[in-house]
Amino acid sequence: MSAFDPSVFSLNSRFEVDHLTIAGVSAAQLAAEFGTPLFVVDEADFKERAGQWKSALETAFGENAGTVYYAAKSFISKEIARWVDGAGIGLDVCTGGELAVAEAINFPAHNIEVHGNNKSEEEIQRAITFGVNTIVIDSFTEIERVSRIAAALGKVQRVFIRVTPGVEAHTHEFISTAHEDVKFGFSLASGAAWDAIAAIRSEPALQLVGLHSHIGSQIFQSEGFAVAAAKLIGLLARYREAYGTQLPELDLGGGYGIAHLTGEVTLNPLQVLTELAAVVKSACAAAEISIPRISIEPGRAIVGPTTTTLYTVGTTKEVELDGGVVRRYIAIDGGMSDNIRPALYGAQYMAILANRLPLGPTANSRIVGKHCESGDIVIREIALSADIAPGDLLAIPATGAYGRSMASNYNHVPRPAVVAVIAGEARVIVRREAIADLLALEI
Ligand SMILES: *Cc1c(COP(=O)(O)O)cnc(C)c1O
Repeated sequence: MSAFDPSVFSLNSRFEVDHLTIAGVSAAQLAAEFGTPLFVVDEADFKERAGQWKSALETAFGENAGTVYYAAKSFISKEIARWVDGAGIGLDVCTGGELAVAEAINFPAHNIEVHGNNKSEEEIQRAITFGVNTIVIDSFTEIERVSRIAAALGKVQRVFIRVTPGVEAHTHEFISTAHEDVKFGFSLASGAAWDAIAAIRSEPALQLVGLHSHIGSQIFQSEGFAVAAAKLIGLLARYREAYGTQLPELDLGGGYGIAHLTGEVTLNPLQVLTELAAVVKSACAAAEISIPRISIEPGRAIVGPTTTTLYTVGTTKEVELDGGVVRRYIAIDGGMSDNIRPALYGAQYMAILANRLPLGPTANSRIVGKHCESGDIVIREIALSADIAPGDLLAIPATGAYGRSMASNYNHVPRPAVVAVIAGEARVIVRREAIADLLALEI
């Protein structure tokens, strides 16, 4: 039976006798005060993880440690951006909207990196005007576009190029991004990356400072990162041979895997970065180049494990399957509008009964949402207590990344609130959408 597992829940989550608490606040109290569905962020856990990635990068790479850029797309809000800045790490943004959050709290521009495979003129202009550290160039079209806008603003913009190094990460196809047949970046194998380097070098308003690759998400095997790093270092060596100088920086992206289910592991920052540092050092030694400044972009690995979603059970039913097996459907008050990942990628989650102890036997259960879509399944198969009934609270851990950030208003469902809990205190950091917010958009 699915039970509380400290390795999947946030650092300050406990199962106290008969109920779940997060940073000292009970799930039932959170639900009563803020409603459900509710994203509950363990604030101290977020700050701890952000700090761990920073210190792990510094320990693993020493004087060659660059910046940890938190991937805003995994989940960003003004308060989260303050925590990111407070932890002394940077921010990776992909759109004008994500940049606007950074601008709204005066996030230090020198710690911002801008991604995106189709940045608009306006987004580029705002980023350069704000003074972002680096823009990651994703296409030939963009070389001309960024260069023209920087020149018009009288600036020289630091840029990376995004390289697709031809590494297929061992993860679900839709979230692998570095094999050749993808929309992102310049192919290494085809020579496009090499041509992009030459094109950028000929633009006086662009300063090429390094290479970037991001090989995918929810990756557990560090070989993928190692192979990508070695390929990029090969390109750095070729650059030095051709141009007589070395590009000083390398950004190896994010994608570090986390546990969603009992028995899975959340990659340990120091361990994975120490392995990466060894590969980088030996590849640089073999290529006879000096070690570049190494930056990374973890998103999920920082915010994912910190957050638990609370749902209220609304209805249940039993269905007899072929062979007489019974499946118990448990419908919750959210679903694919607050967690699209199971429907989109087949992502798996676990859940526990959060407001009381389960009584009696378990049932083969399926947790479904409230949307008009048969595929609105949050957990396909889970053993849960057969007495779970309307009004009970379910808690799904490790939902901090790509949950609220990918949330939709499908079926005109308002998006859930996000509440931060720390030391027994809970406060709203993103308020719940109201029906009035939805109607306010309409003519
Ligand atoms: C999505 C993405 C990340 C973050 O990925 P996680 O799996 O959340 O760590 C980092 N960099 C780039 C370029 C991305 O597209």
